[in-house]
Amino acid sequence: MENIKNYNLEELKQELIKMGEKQYRAEQIFKWIHQENITSFDEMTNISLELREKLKQKYTLGVFNILKKQESSDGTVKYLFDVLDGNAIETVLMKYHFGYSICVSSQIGCKMGCKFCASTGIAFVRNLMSGEIVEQLLAVQRDQKIKISNVVFMGIGEPLDNYDNVVNAIRIINNPKGINIGARHISISTSGLVPKIYQLAEENIQCTLSISLHASSDEKRSEMMPVNNLYNIEQLMKACKYYIEKTNRRISFEYALAKENNDNLEDAKKLVKLLRGMNCHVNLIPINKIENGKFTKSSNEAILKFRDYLNDCGIVATVRRELGSDIDAACGQLRRKNLKNS
Ligand code: SF4
Repeated sequence: MENIKNYNLEELKQELIKMGEKQYRAEQIFKWIHQENITSFDEMTNISLELREKLKQKYTLGVFNILKKQESSDGTVKYLFDVLDGNAIETVLMKYHFGYSICVSSQIGCKMGCKFCASTGIAFVRNLMSGEIVEQLLAVQRDQKIKISNVVFMGIGEPLDNYDNVVNAIRIINNPKGINIGARHISISTSGLVPKIYQLAEENIQCTLSISLHASSDEKRSEMMPVNNLYNIEQLMKACKYYIEKTNRRISFEYALAKENNDNLEDAKKLVKLLRGMNCHVNLIPINKIENGKFTKSSNEAILKFRDYLNDCGIVATVRRELGSDIDAACGQLRRKNLKNS
């Protein structure tokens, strides 16, 4: 049976027409699913019993089970969800002064092999469907009885490697008749799949693009991120400039600082050279040490020096607040532990 959450509103209308129903029923059903966050078709009280039965025969609501939940002292909550086929994914809820932000996974496992990532070493299993991406938000909203205001695609997986499902999930989440989170409050983080960046620039969705850059030379970046052997920094910067020009949106560059690796002044100088004149922001991330990982966190002094140098050169840079450091908040860690213990 198909998960009804895979459909955006237009697709759901077509499904209802195929069932011999009026289009407006699709809007009612869409609202029940995404606004009322129901867990059973029987809760759709303004839908006839007959249509509810038809829906039950044809679709599921794909409601996740919570396998594990870890709460941090800073309010961050990390979920391990059972996606109903024997696999598990991670989702993290973070509390900020502006509201609740959720970090969603886009794939089960990841093919990219970034050396600093806890997902590395876990085999890629499959892409998540749009409905499974959307359900991460709905499941957390149900559990916490809150309304989420921001979504970041920064969990397990490379979102642009699951392009169609991710873009469709954004259209579902963004729909005013559904969860209604503005595209400007949705951010996609990519390791740098250049052709997909060009494709995304043409989509006409106003979401924020965030690039996991992490190094300012090909030599160092290839060592940390094998994707750089496929699309080097020059190609990546060209695609980023195109995205900015086409969408008029500022790009965010993620830079995880690793001790005595990419955190010295030479690296900062090269970074300034790459980004000068670009409409961008640099997010400096104190790296989370992962088990058997090669990289360790830079000293606070090195982090602040790096930030100040960028700011002095006119590149807006901030250090990301470390959330959930007491609960394995680096992507993949909770899932990895669970796999090892099972
Ligand atoms: S950092 Fe992201 S893209 Fe890289 S291996 Fe981890 S999940 Fe995949």
